[in-house]
Amino acid sequence: MKKVSILHTGGTLSSKVDYKTGGVVAKYTDKDILSMFPELREIVKIKSRLIRNMSSDDMNFKHYNLLAKEIFKELKNSDGVIITHGTDTMHYSAAALSFILEGLDKPILLVGAQRSSDRGSSDAGLNLICAAQFIKNSDFFGVGICMHEGMSDENCLILPAVKTRKLHSSRRDAFKVVNDSAIARVNRYGKVEFLNYTKREKGKLELKLINEKLKVGLIKSRPNMFATELKIYEKYDGLILEGTGLGHFPITKIDNFTSENKRTFDEIKKITKKIPVVMTTQCLFGRVNMNVYSPGRELIKIGVLGNQLDMLPEVAYVKLAWLLSNHKKEVRELIGENLRGEINHRIKDEFL
Ligand code: ASP
Repeated sequence: MKKVSILHTGGTLSSKVDYKTGGVVAKYTDKDILSMFPELREIVKIKSRLIRNMSSDDMNFKHYNLLAKEIFKELKNSDGVIITHGTDTMHYSAAALSFILEGLDKPILLVGAQRSSDRGSSDAGLNLICAAQFIKNSDFFGVGICMHEGMSDENCLILPAVKTRKLHSSRRDAFKVVNDSAIARVNRYGKVEFLNYTKREKGKLELKLINEKLKVGLIKSRPNMFATELKIYEKYDGLILEGTGLGHFPITKIDNFTSENKRTFDEIKKITKKIPVVMTTQCLFGRVNMNVYSPGRELIKIGVLGNQLDMLPEVAYVKLAWLLSNHKKEVRELIGENLRGEINHRIKDEFL
């Protein structure tokens, strides 16, 4: 039997209704989860540990490092690791683990649930069982997310850690791949169907942690923006811009109503002189193209990075923090290089 470690961090999967408040809170321990889903022990040999019982909304870089270190320890003696995790920021953690665990040669699957495990409609059981089945029945290695494929309890998908986003606040199939496709489909009985998986070369596992003191910003462009909103980032180490469309910000003064836009442009210019600033798109699908419109060209001229990339804003955010921590001198070159599958230099026709 394959040996799998389950590291629990909390989230809805570990939650139940608290009758005092009427709300749902992360309370179940690793032991509770295993006794709720005894089938898991029939699929793989399980060792489980409680790392935290928290909502993923409260996580920060320190948790990513802690989790990576715990995974590193577990991998010495297991064939793969399942991480139970809140769904809200799961895509940030998945990206962080992908970057931190360089040369990973075993499967790490993040598993969450949209309905707490004490509810009949919970998706926790299927997601966990499918993750265990996938590790048992495949030779996949790398970081993936295992969640429901559709509304029914039939299949789960193994989703690429750096190309996936939570796109629904409550549906069990909330996680969708953006500009790419799922790695595999798996069911509770262990049937695995690979959909899109190109094996990388195996490396030597190395921990490249994120500097916990870093301050990286992520700001969304919108109408009626003020330059002062950007000002605080002068003191940050890096900034991700979530532009509209192809990568735009309100930076052009076209009439008396738009004088603030000039100030916004000047502020971005000031910040790009101090720290790396990377453009992404809030459209999510498609890529940034700052060559199309003149303001975009202005942004390129003042040093805004990210042109032609299809990186998800959250992934760019984590990647920038990781690059600043581990490759400080090469941030500007490496931000545009596909290090973990986060960039498609060519997007398949179906996503264009
Ligand atoms: N707020 C919760 C979390 O992300 C929601 C969930 O687990 O689905 O931890």
